[in-house]
Amino acid sequence: MSETETIFSKIIRREIPADIVYEDDLALAFKDINPQAPVHIIVIPKQPLAKLADAESQDHALMGHLLLTVKRVAKLVELNNGYRVVINNGPDGGQTVNHLHLHILGGRPMLWPPG
Ligand code: 5GP
Repeated sequence: MSETETIFSKIIRREIPADIVYEDDLALAFKDINPQAPVHIIVIPKQPLAKLADAESQDHALMGHLLLTVKRVAKLVELNNGYRVVINNGPDGGQTVNHLHLHILGGRPMLWPPG
């Protein structure tokens, strides 16, 4: 796999199945295969950006779009009592898939501090 070719690229291309909850020209949202909360959704850019630290100023509109997509998806799945948004970046951030993604976690009260 190249640096930009991940399991998420295959989900974008529908080569492997995923429970997709939202899609537009720039972003895709699907249920996490190993949910850490009653609702756990992954939001990704279709553009294969490996991690947040790789985003450049030309990506600023995409970054804003991803945050607004989180808001839209959270409303769609009726997380009306709140939710947590997480971006794991790099090894110490706990990132395991090298395609930028935002976790939406909800359906229960979240704890703080995280592990
Ligand atoms: P990270 O640890 O990189 O922040 O998050 C990667 C997330 O992707 C994990 O929560 C993991 O469960 C999820 N994931 C990994 N492979 C797949 C897959 O094939 N399908 C789905 N739906 N989620 C996946």
